Amino acid sequence: MIYFDYAATTPVDQRVLNVMLPYFRESFGNPSSVHRLGQKAETAVDQAREKVSTVLHCKPEEIIFTSCGTEADNLALRGAAMARRAASGEKWILTARTEHHAVSKTAEQLEKEYGFLLEWLDMDQYGAVTPESLSKAVCNHTSIASVMYANNEIGTINPIPELAEIARVNNILFHTDAVQAAAYLDVNVEKLGVDLLSLGGHKFYGPKGVGALYVRKGTKLLEHMTGGGQEFGLRAGTQNVPYIIGFAEALRLAAEERENRTTHVKPLRDHIIGKVLETIPDSQLTGHPKSRLPNHASFVFKDVDGNLLLQMLDSAGFACSSGSACKTGNPEPSEVITSLGYSRDWALGSLRVTLGVDSTPEQVDSFLNTLPALVEKARKLRN
Ligand SMILES: *Cc1c(COP(=O)(O)O)cnc(C)c1O
Repeated sequence: MIYFDYAATTPVDQRVLNVMLPYFRESFGNPSSVHRLGQKAETAVDQAREKVSTVLHCKPEEIIFTSCGTEADNLALRGAAMARRAASGEKWILTARTEHHAVSKTAEQLEKEYGFLLEWLDMDQYGAVTPESLSKAVCNHTSIASVMYANNEIGTINPIPELAEIARVNNILFHTDAVQAAAYLDVNVEKLGVDLLSLGGHKFYGPKGVGALYVRKGTKLLEHMTGGGQEFGLRAGTQNVPYIIGFAEALRLAAEERENRTTHVKPLRDHIIGKVLETIPDSQLTGHPKSRLPNHASFVFKDVDGNLLLQMLDSAGFACSSGSACKTGNPEPSEVITSLGYSRDWALGSLRVTLGVDSTPEQVDSFLNTLPALVEKARKLRN
């Protein structure tokens, strides 16, 4: 099996696994315990927090460990919207249709169940939120804007420093979901200028089921897990010590090896994009042609059932992904792809090919030799 689905998840780096293992059995203490075993675990969590804060250029106490990227997004959006409304009454939330469901569904729930007002930001044809679009949408009653750093489905990178600056001068909070971005982009929160930033371990060779939220000092959040007061009272629950340690090491390695990893995947990605568009009729790149994640190629093919294409690729030995939620019998095109304005006959035929540290030119060539015939076959089956 050739794996081209690194945007869905990545394998745990062996070096990451090695630093995690002692904390399952030898040093299994509860960080809240007073005895030495507990203290050892607490020290390890403190060191992990410091490691993360070094990469993010923030203070350790501005990092909240969570159970995943989704939870970090939930804590950021719901926590900030609730706290801010309680403090000063603002009710408007700004976000975009291209956001991961962890953000968009949370925003919709805040609107539907909690009386917030939600406005979807305009995007350009590549799915990017422009500074003009945010400027146009902000008003005196805006509480928070949430715009992802890089899109998981279409790879587009948003201009976060510019957007965060607009939020800052208008006195609104700014959150960015950097879960997909952190594998390849600089997550220096000083440079980005954000108040809140979400991360998830398994997108950069860390374990699944662990994430973190950066919370700028002074940003008030409603506690989202109440209990024993862990994570500065914002996210109670005994910390997942080995996973937090793995998360921090994976993030450190991602930052340290960012340039090398980028240099490795980018030419392969460019080759895929060039060849696919050249050899497959009625194909289009989705997302931005330049301002996109270096490991990310995404397409739509006209009159193709994307799920069928994925199954055919799977049988041929390639693990790829599409945007569409797989519903047997009645496939629904992805909201992200349709929000870009693609009609149904294009939007249903989406394909995402994402590369990683183990991807090779041979794998890419083999893929490029296989794909055109499969697209043609899928088209025949649909017509
Ligand atoms: C994967 C992903 C998430 C969810 O992270 P989990 O750790 O899987 O919960 C959120 N946002 C984006 C952009 C992602 O790519």
